[in-house]
Amino acid sequence: MKTLLLEQMTWPEIEEAMEKGMDTVLIFAASVEQHGPALPEITDTAIGYAEAVDLAKRLGNTLVAPVIRPGLSRHHMGMPGTITLRPEVFRGILEDYVAAYVHHGFKKIIITSSHGGNFGELTRITEDLAAEYPDICIVSGCMLEEVDELLVEMDRTEGLFPGTCGGHACDWETSVMMMIDENYVRKEKLAAGYIGQFTPEVADRFFNEGVKSISENGVMGDPTGADAERGRRYFEMYQALQERAMRKNLEEWRKNNE
Ligand SMILES: [Zn+2]
Repeated sequence: MKTLLLEQMTWPEIEEAMEKGMDTVLIFAASVEQHGPALPEITDTAIGYAEAVDLAKRLGNTLVAPVIRPGLSRHHMGMPGTITLRPEVFRGILEDYVAAYVHHGFKKIIITSSHGGNFGELTRITEDLAAEYPDICIVSGCMLEEVDELLVEMDRTEGLFPGTCGGHACDWETSVMMMIDENYVRKEKLAAGYIGQFTPEVADRFFNEGVKSISENGVMGDPTGADAERGRRYFEMYQALQERAMRKNLEEWRKNNE
């Protein structure tokens, strides 16, 4: 098969893929939001596509839904370009995605995010959809807390100052964007932002008062040493975590529905 992206396939190709056992759809919710002075607003969407296609290959029998581009980004509205959806619109889009794929006959739907700000709402929506469609296996991916823990581990594994992978336009995201396409990154504009622990107090200000209340340039972490090779290692670490979480959630659903 040439592509796993549903939006790039024709309907006969999708029908044939489903007949051959491709019964799972992977839905990624991303964002269109500021990513500091060196990364474009499309960052979470570009990363979402890369992660989704790779995960579909890892899981097997999985096709990728069009990545949902704008997400919940109220905390990034302090800088131009950011789009934020009303929570009910975000919920409505996910409900309509799921209704469509259930209608077309898919049996398993995995819903996750490549943007931190979506996770909380996404978990609630996924639970509600799972209850609404008890015959369809609808599960989420990993939790935001697991992502936060992984960022700490990334700093440690790479021998970096704690907080270098701060989670937004940081060494992690910038290196992964370099891995995807070096042209995305304005290297001469790379600058550090907030470097420190993402404590509950910091998180509270970040989400409620906006990123600007913590970081003037919109960066959480230090991307100045970002590098495509390291991006490859980060990508592998995070994909392994996501794959594990998805397999575990799929297996749990199977056990509960035997
Ligand atoms: Zn991002």
